[in-house]
Amino acid sequence: MSKQQFDAIVIGAGISGMYQLHRLRELGLSVRVYESGDGVGGTWYWNRYPGARFDSESYSYAYSFSDEILKEWNWSEHFSGQPENERYLNFVADKLDLRKDIQFNAKVTAARYHDADNLWEVELEDGEKASARFLITAMGPLSAYQMPRIEGIDSFQGQSWHTARWPKEPVDFTGKKVGVIGTGATGVQVIQEVAKTAGELTVFQLDANWCAPLKNSKISDEEQEALKAKYPEIFQKCRDSFGGFVHQFDMRSVFDVTPEERERIFQDLYDSPGFGIWLGNFHDIMTDEKANDLITEFIARKIRERVKDPQVAEILIPKDHGFGMKRVPMETNYYEVYNQDNVELINLRSTPIERITPKGIKTTDKEYELDIIVYATGFDAVTGAFKRVDIRGKDNQNLSEQWSDGPHTYLGMQVAGFPNMFMLVGPHNGATFCNIPRCIEQNVEWVTDCIKYMQEHGHTRIETTPEAEEAWTDHVYESVEGSLLTKADSWFMGANTPGKKRTFLLYAAGGPAYRQKCDEVAAKNYEGFVLQ
Ligand code: NAP
Repeated sequence: MSKQQFDAIVIGAGISGMYQLHRLRELGLSVRVYESGDGVGGTWYWNRYPGARFDSESYSYAYSFSDEILKEWNWSEHFSGQPENERYLNFVADKLDLRKDIQFNAKVTAARYHDADNLWEVELEDGEKASARFLITAMGPLSAYQMPRIEGIDSFQGQSWHTARWPKEPVDFTGKKVGVIGTGATGVQVIQEVAKTAGELTVFQLDANWCAPLKNSKISDEEQEALKAKYPEIFQKCRDSFGGFVHQFDMRSVFDVTPEERERIFQDLYDSPGFGIWLGNFHDIMTDEKANDLITEFIARKIRERVKDPQVAEILIPKDHGFGMKRVPMETNYYEVYNQDNVELINLRSTPIERITPKGIKTTDKEYELDIIVYATGFDAVTGAFKRVDIRGKDNQNLSEQWSDGPHTYLGMQVAGFPNMFMLVGPHNGATFCNIPRCIEQNVEWVTDCIKYMQEHGHTRIETTPEAEEAWTDHVYESVEGSLLTKADSWFMGANTPGKKRTFLLYAAGGPAYRQKCDEVAAKNYEGFVLQ
């Protein structure tokens, strides 16, 4: 029998779980949040690797729902680093007195729906159980970290970490021989930081990524004041934009301007802070391969200009996908790192890793002796966190088995056969391709309004229909047709996880379209759901 019963159980105390807790408590619900870490923050709790920082403008990443929090919190940089981001989330947790309803060091291993009493029963790793009417997953799209499958990985006698399980005590790289495997957004941030102090840094790169300058800087007191005065405008801009960022696509075609004008625009975007070069660029760079070729050639030229050794530059220029088809890692002097004498780049496409040895990493070419190995090898994205919990709905059906050929959801928030379970930032949810807090707020507010509607109408059970689920899944795949996002083997496609079906996991029609659809569903008394 369950020990404790709540109105709602939330899995995860990251940005979405924290806000969901706050909003459900406002409805008068008893809520328990289970969090496997010993602090709040989710992504910003776990990913404490050196160099971790926002690639969204700090002031566009903050929660927007509380004027008090907005007024009191000062971001010190335009793209704030992990320590400050974690401090911010702790500040919010204190401000809203969230911790009293969060159980830390509590890893949820199973969640089962009991039809007879219309309750979800949740089980923790230590065997503790609790039940609730509503189950809300707030596990994050990038939380199920992935170690590479390389022989001998446990035999290494030096220190090694995955970036998403970085120790709290600072790691000293001074004079050490460090190997980094992985050159995605995480690897790029780690490499540019570790290169500053490591004795020797060896970067093991499978495929190169297209990176662009972050152009971070401190926020002066005057800027701080101006930004705070502009918060409503900033959040409105994010709401109106495709990805929830302050950057909006230029709706002209890349071919509408002269080559000189295009070069000037590309250069301005490259010199400007943040994702403008990607999400503020001509819209057809994401849909037309010929348009994409132009920005791709521009960025390749920049890499050749910045990296002194032409052979190294060629290894750093992706050959398998165009610019923007994968999430763009934002960098600060990343390419210049390869001009340093203490840094070596290994192309694993020509000399693959054979095994990890007690002393280091052995490729087909040679063995690299190392003191530290950093695994920046990414995540089993979007659906991975669901796989790591045994989630069973009606008739004992297992969620991950149901998704073996790709996720099926309605609005990326519910699954037929799993009544009263809501997913925040679930697969095929508008929040997956987004400046995440912006869309998290939308998700949380929609779920809260839905539960409020149920309270007001005396409903205790909500479940989507298989028809609504199928129509949404079709819509998701249609929305990405014609987009270049499906061309690259990225985590967007589940292609970075061995054995995972290659299928689009996000939502590509953009934030405004997603919000409109969710609002329409609510306005039509939750069309596509059965309420009882
Ligand atoms: P990722 O983009 O999936 O990159 C993983 C890297 O590891 C890739 O370079 C991959 O190579 C390499 N890799 C994987 N398995 C390997 C193996 N067996 N041997 C050698 N290399 C291997 O993961 P990530 O860098 O952690 O980033 C994931 C996402 O997190 C980003 O796209 C972004 O959305 C988010 N993120 C955001 C920030 C931020 O600034 N806010 C920072 C970091 C991450 P291949 O590509 O060739 O497979």
